[in-house]
Amino acid sequence: MSTTVVRDGTIWTGGANPRVLERQDLVIQNGVVASIEPNFRGRSDLDVDAGGALVVPGFINAHVHAGCTPHIRGMTEDEPIPKEGAYYHALGAILTLGYQHLAHDEFAALMEWDAIAMLLGGATMVCEENFGGHEVWIELVERLGFRSDLGLTYPGSVSAIGYLKDGKIVMGSGGDIGAQFQAGIALHKTHHGKFGDRLRIHLSPHGPDTVPTELLIETTRQAKALGVNANLHLAQHLNERRTIAERHGGKSSIQYLHDIGFLGPHVMAMHVTFIDDHDIDLLAASRTNVIHGSYRKAKEALISPFWEHLAKGVNVAIATDSFSHDLIQDLRFAAMLAKIRQNDVGTPRAHHVLRCATHGAAKALNRPDLGNLEPGARGDVVVIDLQTAFNSPVFDPLRSLIYYSSARDIRCTLVDGRKVVERGQVLGTDMDAVRRRADEAARKVWALARRDGVLDAFTSHGH
Ligand SMILES: [Zn+2]
Repeated sequence: MSTTVVRDGTIWTGGANPRVLERQDLVIQNGVVASIEPNFRGRSDLDVDAGGALVVPGFINAHVHAGCTPHIRGMTEDEPIPKEGAYYHALGAILTLGYQHLAHDEFAALMEWDAIAMLLGGATMVCEENFGGHEVWIELVERLGFRSDLGLTYPGSVSAIGYLKDGKIVMGSGGDIGAQFQAGIALHKTHHGKFGDRLRIHLSPHGPDTVPTELLIETTRQAKALGVNANLHLAQHLNERRTIAERHGGKSSIQYLHDIGFLGPHVMAMHVTFIDDHDIDLLAASRTNVIHGSYRKAKEALISPFWEHLAKGVNVAIATDSFSHDLIQDLRFAAMLAKIRQNDVGTPRAHHVLRCATHGAAKALNRPDLGNLEPGARGDVVVIDLQTAFNSPVFDPLRSLIYYSSARDIRCTLVDGRKVVERGQVLGTDMDAVRRRADEAARKVWALARRDGVLDAFTSHGH
């Protein structure tokens, strides 16, 4: 028996009926929450001091692309992105250079540095939609001790999802997309449930415009047969909307997916930005899950619907996607931008966004053992210091968290009752060494991009 006790914290239990409990001990036995009680006196193997801190269920970062972030930070911010497109169209050539020219250990360093940011950002569980280097990711899950749901994205190259050429969005060759889909199913057979069930494998079709109809239908069949989710990008940009309308008699992306039987409670759809009211009705009726990434979208001068989904009963999760992995920052953006969009300070409230990053994501993943701290749940926990100059004194702990805290206030995170992050350090790695190697890898990509003339668009140097 192994016992971890998170002592003397303010506990927000999460789940379907969250409670706030002051000055309580959270007792985790063999990786599972055993009890919440005022003063646990039994034997413990690990004590975590949560005095003056808020204790919440581990955050679930519901959509990332590991290895796609560190070397593009600071490039597209402030710069025009293609009309009808997204930031990744502008960066396609640079991302491709990274995948094609970095040695295995160089790309692994970028990926690990990315994972470090996700874990310092408060995620105990990460949904990774992978464009390459999945074996590196699997090793990171094993070594760093976090939880992940991994999908191999098809088409499996960033050029195949579109990039800019002479000012126009073009679609590169994605190789054998059927074989890529089969590789994901093969990975499920060998790796689903590994590392004490910390690793699970789902299906990851890129989007309605980049995956052929027959393969989307086959994805649905296999996802149901395997009992796994299908995670895709949906209603992400106007180029997708125009492409689907041209191919399918003027239909919206969501209407098209509905008509081919793709939607359902096993689907997690990222972005869902360019939609109408009827689209939301289809999502609600089919119990399709939406993933909201507010910070990423704000960089494109966009606010995705958030409250509109919740108001119609659509389940919503939260993701950082790429660029920044501070999940608390993403929760604040989600709350603030939705208030502006609704023109109402009360929609949403702090608990709405916190619930999306915990219970909402767990529901989307069909994981009743995640997203809450009730007895029987996994011992995945974030302990956030609420005694800083920014977030104290604490009148309302959830508001102190969402409106006044950042990932830098995270005292520690636990997965299955074991420490993954402690005071700004990801345990199980040498962060300085990884940073140096990731920095070298990024500079190598930048040198190649400069040689090819694809960096020119991003070098404003503050002017
Ligand atoms: Zn994505």
